[in-house]
Amino acid sequence: MARPASSHSSCSGCDLCLLACPVWRQTRDIRLTPHGRAKALQYGATAADIAASVSSCTLCGSCEPACPEEIPLVDLILELRRQNPLAAMPAAPATAAASSGTTLLLPDPALRSDDERLRRVAGLLAATIASDDGSEIGLALEAGAAIPPARLAGFLEGVGSARRVVVAGGLLLRRLREWLPGMKVQGLGEALSSLPAVRSKLRPRDLYVIEPRAFHHDHARLVGHYDGLRATLGLEMNLDLQRLAVATTASSAQRGFGLPALDAEDQARWILEGRDIERVVVEDAHDCAVFAAVTDRPVVHVGDL
Ligand code: SF4
Ligand code: SF4
Repeated sequence: MARPASSHSSCSGCDLCLLACPVWRQTRDIRLTPHGRAKALQYGATAADIAASVSSCTLCGSCEPACPEEIPLVDLILELRRQNPLAAMPAAPATAAASSGTTLLLPDPALRSDDERLRRVAGLLAATIASDDGSEIGLALEAGAAIPPARLAGFLEGVGSARRVVVAGGLLLRRLREWLPGMKVQGLGEALSSLPAVRSKLRPRDLYVIEPRAFHHDHARLVGHYDGLRATLGLEMNLDLQRLAVATTASSAQRGFGLPALDAEDQARWILEGRDIERVVVEDAHDCAVFAAVTDRPVVHVGDL
């Protein structure tokens, strides 16, 4: 018999999620952790009562594979945000239009901000760059804002005409797999690091920084993918306890909502600590500037190799 979906009521208080959580690492405030929220909800708190805790979460997803009760901790945060949104749905970009192509690339704002890199990544993937990348839908998901059904339907119609979709935003990836069952939807990091042309440029003593949201959402499968990469090429990775990816800039969107966000450079320093590396290779374009601020080693995006 299928195991029933867990919820906050299943939380045993084991605290394993704390070991994985960047908010706990930086604040040491139990109220801002999955354990703290679960206990508050078990004792009758509402979404409004724990709004500060809910907004502090970076949605990095590290806690989810760590939780022995298999509580869908990211989905529960998203549900709590829908009850108490952080912001309204942003306006759709003026360029929004239907897209088509065998492989469609949905860049996030960080990837789109560098036209040369965006075109190089699309070339590597033999992908069409989506004119409508759904970036404001990704932000609305993060904020818990209502997404107008007509806007979502228009976006999915454009995306649904492709055979494969490669997505830079880990949260949008999570939802696209639900919205488009049967469609091959891949994270940008996995798609690029699967290419022989990219793998041949990776070197031992590279620190390869995995984008945490896409990785944790599909942890059991992707651990095998990245372990293969590590074993074959001798890379260092931002994997820690239970092979979870230490997060850096997954919290950057919170700044866009005017909310306190984690110190990403502190996270990057933590990842670098004690490592003898020659170069940093990042999957998330946001991470380029974060690592460049704290190391004198070259920092490159995996699409720039
Ligand atoms: S998603 Fe990340 S920041 Fe949020 S509770 Fe889980 S580990 Fe902490
Ligand atoms: S790991 Fe899961 S069961 Fe354990 S304290 Fe965290 S949310 Fe609760």
